[in-house]
Amino acid sequence: MAEKLSGVKGMNDILPTNSYQWLWLEGKLNAWLAQYGYNNMRTPILESTQLFTRSIGEVTDIVEKEMYSFVDSLNGDKLTLRPEGTAGVIRAVVEHSLLYNATQKLWYIGPMFRHERPQKGRYRQFHQLGVEALGFAGPDIDCEIILMLSHLWQILGLDGVELHINCLGNKEERLAHRQALINYFEQHQEILDEEAKRRLYTNPLRILDTKNQAMQELVTSAPRLIDYLGEDSLSHYNGWKTGLDALNINYIENPRLVRGLDYYNLSVFEWVSSDLGSQSTVCGGGRYDPLLAELGGKDNYAIGFAIGLERLLLSLEAQGKLPQKPVNDIYIVSDGDGTTALGFKLAAQLRSHGFSVIQNFGGGSFKAQFKRADNSGSALTLVIGENEVKQQQVVVKSMALKTQEVIELGNVIDKVKQLINR
Ligand code: ATP
Ligand code: MG
Repeated sequence: MAEKLSGVKGMNDILPTNSYQWLWLEGKLNAWLAQYGYNNMRTPILESTQLFTRSIGEVTDIVEKEMYSFVDSLNGDKLTLRPEGTAGVIRAVVEHSLLYNATQKLWYIGPMFRHERPQKGRYRQFHQLGVEALGFAGPDIDCEIILMLSHLWQILGLDGVELHINCLGNKEERLAHRQALINYFEQHQEILDEEAKRRLYTNPLRILDTKNQAMQELVTSAPRLIDYLGEDSLSHYNGWKTGLDALNINYIENPRLVRGLDYYNLSVFEWVSSDLGSQSTVCGGGRYDPLLAELGGKDNYAIGFAIGLERLLLSLEAQGKLPQKPVNDIYIVSDGDGTTALGFKLAAQLRSHGFSVIQNFGGGSFKAQFKRADNSGSALTLVIGENEVKQQQVVVKSMALKTQEVIELGNVIDKVKQLINR
């Protein structure tokens, strides 16, 4: 026998035992997004590497060490498997002039790729649902973005998610704060770890995001960006908070929330679940007004977020909020001349009334077929033998009620409707 092959480490198969949960979630997400007027957007999984280095920023976890980048051996192009969805969407929006005299509310879903150490809630291929609202200055849209997420947790029955918010101001404010941070950290060089030292002059803001316990006290007392914000940024931040208060949405102001990507400004936020251990952020997002111009578009406004779908499903599972696997309605067993043909006819009729039908294929004794019917978890079994073909009848068995009746062909649909209650 040939050797078995394995999938790539950190990239998971989603098997039928779980895939129905994804379909269920995707159905809820589709309906929810439509309620807020968002349109679906589909961009390629491969983009040119420079799209990500330019938009995400050179000195970020993603660009420094997490990207799957390679040279196309056929033409030498530098390509990268997308590590996130915003860059591709904005590239496409600019390329196709979607913001010409218009605003856009867009959403996407799909796999993202990051070369990280795989663990629970952290994979090398994972899935995000993302939203981008383009052309709105806010803070009204910033409020609706939070509102729609808190509505989603309600729709899904997800409890225990905490909202953290912060304001990252504008470029000049961040530059002033950056200098203050560099001065501060320079005075405490001995506490900085290797990564922090490397980032001190390239991206000191990201030091605030460190997970290193030994540096927690240092970063807690570091200069806060909020103290460097000017009037416009503060008024945007206050407008956002006042809006959230009016909507009765609870939040925690977290001055150290900086987000992992360079393109953010003003409002940023994260939703943190209590059920996920250290991989606890289910959703992250914020405003990224400068990105459109940075990718060759006109100056404009942008805000969005991405939900990690594996983490969302893990939290729902921990809270027992995932549905049962849906049941198949009908399994048809048949044996003898003309029984398969009658089975096809009946199955087509039942499906036209909206029922799901599995026909037994590959023969087998009635006993073997009944066993398969059981294993399929179907609500009803219809039995067709030669006698039934002759009499134009079928036996209808209900597994749940443990009943069995002979029904005239013309009455089968009504009988099934009655038993399945549809
Ligand atoms: P983390 O701090 O956990 O690495 P991040 O800041 O890198 O998260 P974002 O780039 O903001 O994450 O992505 C948005 C969401 O996508 C995250 O909040 C998380 O739910 C999910 N996510 C990010 N990376 C992974 C991964 N490697 N595996 C599974 N989900 C992920
Ligand atoms: Mg990360």
